[in-house]
Amino acid sequence: MKLYGAIVSADNSKLKTQTSIMTISGTQLAKEIKENVKGKVAEAIKEFGRPPHLVVILVGEDPASQSYVKGKGKDAEEVGFKSTTIRKPDTISEKELLNLIHELNADEDVDGILVQLPLPKHIDEDKVIETIDKSKDVDGFHPANVAALWQKRPCIYPCTPKGIIKLLDKAGVEIEGKKAVVIGRSNIVGLPVSKLLLDRNATVTIAHSRSLNLPEVTSHADILVVAIGRPKFVTADMVKPGAAVIDVGVNRDPDSGKLCGDVDFDSCAEIASVITPVPGGVGPMTRACLMENTLECFLNKMHQQQK
Ligand code: NAP
Repeated sequence: MKLYGAIVSADNSKLKTQTSIMTISGTQLAKEIKENVKGKVAEAIKEFGRPPHLVVILVGEDPASQSYVKGKGKDAEEVGFKSTTIRKPDTISEKELLNLIHELNADEDVDGILVQLPLPKHIDEDKVIETIDKSKDVDGFHPANVAALWQKRPCIYPCTPKGIIKLLDKAGVEIEGKKAVVIGRSNIVGLPVSKLLLDRNATVTIAHSRSLNLPEVTSHADILVVAIGRPKFVTADMVKPGAAVIDVGVNRDPDSGKLCGDVDFDSCAEIASVITPVPGGVGPMTRACLMENTLECFLNKMHQQQK
């Protein structure tokens, strides 16, 4: 059955009358989050005499990584952080990179450290992530942060999963008691978002490349989160009518060459009650949550120093 309603942005302003789909604008919600961070940065400067300082390390010249890093730097400046991007050639040795991280760990002026992934094959990513001081781990990837997340102890929430929960909340999607299916089990998205949904009392199923009869699994989902990296993989027949669909994927459409998600937006939007677009959905939220995490690391440090 098709209900009639409106597509609304995250600030609930009507965009155009159509079927009852709600496209959640991550761009709009991210803007609100960044405005809030900006206000807190102004207060922090008054109280502590300086803004938070985010350092992003970019190794090599991968175009996608360059564009992500540029976006992060732009957002950091927008909210009033001190922002530094350290660029290193892909010939940098693992030892040199680890030494650089040790220096930044020891630098009192640095509050957040992010190493853009992926790294060249000769560098062990796990070693790099482990080397970042846990208290400056704005990505929330350090094993101590991951362990704390799974043990429900205070931690830095990884940015993309945190952004997904905020999108669902903003759209008014009830999580408690709902059936959530997450396709993808990566450490960066699939597993942590499953944990956050579980903590909000959803019943969570995690699907992956070996899952059998995926449409059967996904078509029971009230909340469907897709994080696999396959263009337009999820089609309308896989979506329960009225489901909330969160598309994490960032891909190139093989036909048009344009950016697209893991979800076939046009067909799934006919069936979902709430859906995120690509671009303009989860992506901007990831960056906004990075700004929140950097502020959190800074404030934690400052409050520790006051004790
Ligand atoms: P990843 O580490 O490559 O993990 C992909 C996951 O998808 C794996 O668990 C894999 O299963 C599963 N998978 C692959 N093909 C599948 C299939 N045909 N059916 C079911 N499951 C399948 O990727 P990731 O880092 O989680 O990223 C996923 C996507 O999200 C990518 O497009 C990435 O660019 C995007 N992303 C976006 C943001 C953002 O801010 N918007 C942030 C992070 C990632 P197995 O475990 O069995 O191999």
